[in-house]
Amino acid sequence: MTEIKLRHSMQITEHIHALKVPFQITDRAGLEVPRFVYVYLIYGKKTCLIDSGVVSSEKIIFDYLSSTGRRPEEISLLVLTHSHPDHIGSAKAIKKVSGCEISSHGAEKAWIEDVDLQSRERPVPGFHSLVGGSVKVDRVLEEGDLLELGDGLRLKVIHTPGHSKGSISMWLSEEGVLFSGDAIPLAGEMPIYDDPLASVKSIKKLKAIEGIEVLLAAWDQPREGDQAYKIMDESLRYLQRIHETVIKIAGEQPSLDSMELCKRVLKDVGLPESIANPMIARSFQANLKALDHTDLL
Ligand SMILES: [Zn+2]
Repeated sequence: MTEIKLRHSMQITEHIHALKVPFQITDRAGLEVPRFVYVYLIYGKKTCLIDSGVVSSEKIIFDYLSSTGRRPEEISLLVLTHSHPDHIGSAKAIKKVSGCEISSHGAEKAWIEDVDLQSRERPVPGFHSLVGGSVKVDRVLEEGDLLELGDGLRLKVIHTPGHSKGSISMWLSEEGVLFSGDAIPLAGEMPIYDDPLASVKSIKKLKAIEGIEVLLAAWDQPREGDQAYKIMDESLRYLQRIHETVIKIAGEQPSLDSMELCKRVLKDVGLPESIANPMIARSFQANLKALDHTDLL
């Protein structure tokens, strides 16, 4: 564990540290697939954590804090970009040790406060092996809210729905850092969203922010300067390409069930059919609900 921590954790700016948390998911064939998710620490006068990773990630987070002269008990704010398992998994353990304030958008509250409800309504394979339990959302965040971290640092909340209804991003203008959670689907990666049209609008909203020096997403390495804007452009093109492909294939073969459609679309956009899963199938069904927009962009 220590080795992983040292290899994957790094200071990004004067106040921000990125921690890459490894975990495993089980695919449809029962095979374990390695994945990772990034969480971020902001060291202001207060210690703020953005997302908590899967269950047991607190070990990596606490070790990192200790190795950099801060204590786990000092975490005073945990901001959850949304409610999915790899973001809320260790929130309960972190709350227990630090008593931190937990905040999220209101549209994510129900699934954070009742993980069994989330598991029933969005059954991710292996859900309960990824999540440590439900936690109370102490503060509901909305577009434009400002979180004061001391030392002149202020996090601005940007509502970026699409991946989920209450997905939020955060802008730390003092350091030109944008935290995007899962709001920007990475071209070539698993496309997971509830509403592709909302995703496009959200990405455009983020792209319009001037002066982004570092983009910090949950599924991607830190991207600096022009690279940050390029990632967003690629994401927009990727979403449009998927949308066109879903509409074309569903039009040609209306009898395909959602999992068959999922495999056909993945193949057509150059991804392995073997990654087909209910989450991706769900995304493509969302494309079919936006049929009246052939051009999402
Ligand atoms: Zn997510």
